[in-house]
Amino acid sequence: MPLLVQKYGGTSVGDPERIRAVADHVARTRRSGVDVVVVVSAMGRTTDDLIRLADEVSANQPAREFDMLVSSGERISMALLCMALADLGVEAASFTGSQAGIITDTNHTRAKIVEIRADRLREALAAGKVPVVAGFQGVSTARDVTTLGRGGSDTTAVALAAVLGADACEIYTDVTGVFSADPRVVPDAHRLPRISFDEMLEMAATGGRVLMLRSVEFARNHHVPLHVRSSFTWEPGTWVVEEDESMEQAVVTAVTHDASEAKVTVTDVPDRPGVAARLFRALADRSVNVDMIVQNTSQHGTTDISFTVPKVDLATSVSVCEDLRGELGVADVVADEDVARVSLVGAGMKSHPGVTATMFETLAKEGINIDMISTSTIRISCMVRAGEVEKGVRALHEAFELS
Ligand code: ASP
Ligand code: MG
Repeated sequence: MPLLVQKYGGTSVGDPERIRAVADHVARTRRSGVDVVVVVSAMGRTTDDLIRLADEVSANQPAREFDMLVSSGERISMALLCMALADLGVEAASFTGSQAGIITDTNHTRAKIVEIRADRLREALAAGKVPVVAGFQGVSTARDVTTLGRGGSDTTAVALAAVLGADACEIYTDVTGVFSADPRVVPDAHRLPRISFDEMLEMAATGGRVLMLRSVEFARNHHVPLHVRSSFTWEPGTWVVEEDESMEQAVVTAVTHDASEAKVTVTDVPDRPGVAARLFRALADRSVNVDMIVQNTSQHGTTDISFTVPKVDLATSVSVCEDLRGELGVADVVADEDVARVSLVGAGMKSHPGVTATMFETLAKEGINIDMISTSTIRISCMVRAGEVEKGVRALHEAFELS
């Protein structure tokens, strides 16, 4: 029998009615002759509420207890969904991450899966049951409950699909798929019927917030086809699949944007070996995820280095730079939160010159100044003023005829 892993996000199981609608869909899938393993997120904003509760109780939350707390949201949804399935005559059984055999490292709040011992899930399937697994969590090699980081249920689903050899992993959410741009910014953005893993990775990394980045990496590495679709309309969504060389690739597939990063500039950095290494090692040691980096060629033996970091890491980043000021002889540390990034993603870019030029011309025509630029083989990103990014997205979507 074919096997599908179906993952339902927070809005898909947001209230009792939605849970019954999901149960109905699982039952129909099952009756169409397909085995199903379900992965659920916590209902609606439950995870946020639990985190707020922790903040109200304690200023110093031990990570082990934080994970114990926030992992409970998914337990609520899985038990309720199993009850709704029972009402429909579908035999189901809920499993916590630990019961599902999801073994992680000991890195609380952002644990990585190291192994999955899926025997219990296989037994449940063999007994004709639908296993319903709590997303976002596992049990560490030290036997404590861990969580996989925000949005981690996607990773649970993809990892289970990989280990169980599922035919596909369906990610049900409140949008109908992956779009050529954020439809809130570009009303005539269209749903992409299929994109490659590499494109999805670039989109997830540059603001296309439909899938958790790590889950896409996992799916690519383990060849799990993903189907991102809506649990409100149930219509076919976007397939994320291996690149098909025989297909004509679009030069530009999507325009993404992201205002979640800030820019830090250290000025008059001495231009000698080891300076950048020292700076970025110090940032890495504080777990700051640096994204774009720009260094000018030096004029008089010194240069400026600018880099971007998640806004939540800005304070840490600035203090790291300040601490190194004396040692490195930095003149100034400047933080800039008023930035946003607009990116073009497209697998066909590899073989089509001129995309960068058209992008710069389009932004220039709109009077948008480019602050920083970075590229990969299938992406071009420009940092611009935050207030201008949406205008840029619209202009690029039109210039590359994505409507
Ligand atoms: N409930 C968790 C969160 O809100 C995990 C997930 O939804 O994927 O981050
Ligand atoms: Mg979620």
